[in-house]
Amino acid sequence: MFSQLGRWANALTSTDSKMQVRFWGVRGSIACAGPEVQKYGGNTSCVEVRCGERLIILDAGSGLRYLGEELNKNGAVNADLFLSHSHMDHICGLLFFGPLHRDNTQMRIWSGHLSNGWTTSDAIDDLMAAPLLPVSKDVFTAKIDYVDFKAGEEINLSNDIRIRTIPLNHPNGATGYRIEYDGKAVCYVTDTEHRPEGPDEIILGLIKGADVFIYDTSYTDDEYPDYVGYGHSTWEEGARLARRAGVKKYVAFHHDPSHDDKFMDKVSRKLHKMLPSAVVAQEGMVLHP
Ligand SMILES: [Zn+2]
Ligand SMILES: [Zn+2]
Repeated sequence: MFSQLGRWANALTSTDSKMQVRFWGVRGSIACAGPEVQKYGGNTSCVEVRCGERLIILDAGSGLRYLGEELNKNGAVNADLFLSHSHMDHICGLLFFGPLHRDNTQMRIWSGHLSNGWTTSDAIDDLMAAPLLPVSKDVFTAKIDYVDFKAGEEINLSNDIRIRTIPLNHPNGATGYRIEYDGKAVCYVTDTEHRPEGPDEIILGLIKGADVFIYDTSYTDDEYPDYVGYGHSTWEEGARLARRAGVKKYVAFHHDPSHDDKFMDKVSRKLHKMLPSAVVAQEGMVLHP
């Protein structure tokens, strides 16, 4: 599953960019395994963003477990985990994230999609409760702050990291992020459904001129009519948005588990023709904005 990792890791040392993005899980909906998905990977959403020394984690899908194993090799962990939302494929990795079981870890877990009085802490309480899981979140020994905000608000994480957020078009809500640091911008926009009347102006506003734009490409335009209302988009729509907003690198993300490597290779070829700088996300891939 990490066959690409060596190659991507080498890329990591070949530039002095202060911001870097690493993909630990690129699937949507449910994790998948097997030789037919080995190239792109089968873990669900988890992306590591480094802003200098600062560690930001986007989503806690099954890929989070592998990030945890990597972090456990080093010393104390201090990180901000931003959830796009609390559907299972974006939070199923939490219990299995090693650093949460270490008392020298400090984590802030943020979400901005909840409404009706729900909090980030409530959502995780409900995930980690009988009869769904054997232990509650009290099992974590890390110091954890659960932080609530409203999608649309701006978060100044430090004096040099600014995070803009928007609400996305997804059942039960979701949040899109734009992380700005050192003159660069990385946008993370999953899960969201496009609208037939035209491009989503809120997303266009968020991703304008971004260096990296990660987008929900669960389906193709051909498949989409069968999935209206599921809350997801297509790789073609992502390319149209990226072009319109002048994005530098568009990353197709949140692949449907039924899309095997052969299928994704085909998507990749078509995407390159449409937008030569675009890439299809693979587990282990590292980008330097
Ligand atoms: Zn999802
Ligand atoms: Zn979802």
